[in-house]
Amino acid sequence: MRFRTSLLCFCLLLALFLVLPISASSQISPDPQIMAEVNQIKAVDNHTHVPKVVGPGEKDDDFDALPCDPLEPTKAPLMARPENPKFLEAWQKLYGYKYSDIDPAHVRELVAMKQQVQKEQKDNYPAWVIDKLGIEYMLANRVAMGRGLNPSRFIWVPFDDALMVPLNNHAMADTPDRKVFYQREEMLLERYLGESNVFTMPAILDNYVAQVITPTLEQQKKAGAVAIKFEAAYLRSLDFAEPQEQENALSAIAPGRRLALPSPFHEHRVQPYRAPQVTKVTSSRPRSQNKPLHPRENSRYEIGDALARVAA
Ligand SMILES: [Zn+2]
Repeated sequence: MRFRTSLLCFCLLLALFLVLPISASSQISPDPQIMAEVNQIKAVDNHTHVPKVVGPGEKDDDFDALPCDPLEPTKAPLMARPENPKFLEAWQKLYGYKYSDIDPAHVRELVAMKQQVQKEQKDNYPAWVIDKLGIEYMLANRVAMGRGLNPSRFIWVPFDDALMVPLNNHAMADTPDRKVFYQREEMLLERYLGESNVFTMPAILDNYVAQVITPTLEQQKKAGAVAIKFEAAYLRSLDFAEPQEQENALSAIAPGRRLALPSPFHEHRVQPYRAPQVTKVTSSRPRSQNKPLHPRENSRYEIGDALARVAA
């Protein structure tokens, strides 16, 4: 009896092993009718750094607030390496590349074919690409939109980390990467100041929020922005603390100091504001006068506050 039970169990297990691969393989190829329906559905690509159309010799620097090209070169991630066969597939589908190798002569042909399409499509080229990809809308994480990025298909997501760094960031730029990143954020803040017609850094938090943060967010919303991109994790830890009432550090950004006219904005820098000024100005002001702004920890508070007002 015991032997029979064991034999029965063995037979059942064997049957299971034989059946499993069959059912698994039958699931690999989807129902063609369902697939055809699924392929009709257009996608929303919710995270891109789509480039704008550029003329000869023109460069697009707005595709990211913190582009990686000024950093020390590192090996590309697996997906971005040229030997990834997905590139071949993309070239074949987009430009009719007829090879299955990356022979330099063949790649030169590909580049010519791509240039030909760009020439034919002109400013419609980005829309032509996303049509081929089955994408209806693409959220464009960009400092500013640009040529060829028609708002009916490309939806703006601006960067606002720069609004969080109005103080002296010297102590935060503690690695080679962060040095580059903080320089970029300071450049962007200058651009935002210029766009809000603010050429003297406000001395207190209320004024900074009213004259810089709120108008910047309002302008972005008016220009079609549907969200904000933060890259704070590249700049600092994400343990944002609640600000304390006694931290009046915004006074430290040298009240009344004149900023240079941003023309071009990146040639002029906000002068660095030093720690001794922070303590001096902070301690000399009545505490009730200012809302708190801690140089490192309070950004979420003001940005959240200003966002709530813009959204209202
Ligand atoms: Zn991104």
